[in-house]
Amino acid sequence: MTGWDDVLGLTDQSIPVTDHDELFVVASVTERTAVIDYVQDWFGGDDGRSALRLVVDGADCGVLHRSDAYALVSPSDRGGLGAGDHSTLPGYSVAYELLTLRCPQPGCRVRGVAVSYDADDPPACSLHHMPMRIDA
Ligand SMILES: [Zn+2]
Repeated sequence: MTGWDDVLGLTDQSIPVTDHDELFVVASVTERTAVIDYVQDWFGGDDGRSALRLVVDGADCGVLHRSDAYALVSPSDRGGLGAGDHSTLPGYSVAYELLTLRCPQPGCRVRGVAVSYDADDPPACSLHHMPMRIDA
């Protein structure tokens, strides 16, 4: 149970893991605003990005497609995609530090971004099930 089950309801569980998955590692307690902001920014940052795999509390929750990610935002939530630095708007109170992760397996192109990272239980590559390392 999360505060953003509607996001998880949009994911596609039928997509097999690949060696170039992009993971979004997040805890179920993360605020809905932060989750949606990150997803929007990620898709908005590169038109070539089409799918983002959600890993919630260490569990693979399927892939969010670009079209579904955009459907999450209503015009009243924000001024539209790319409408400036929304992080300074009132109401956005919690700043999450994002960590970039990579799989230690040579040749594996799986990448991840984590808003929640437990050093004792790091997120694993969806393909190799090896703990991912922070990409400094
Ligand atoms: Zn891997």
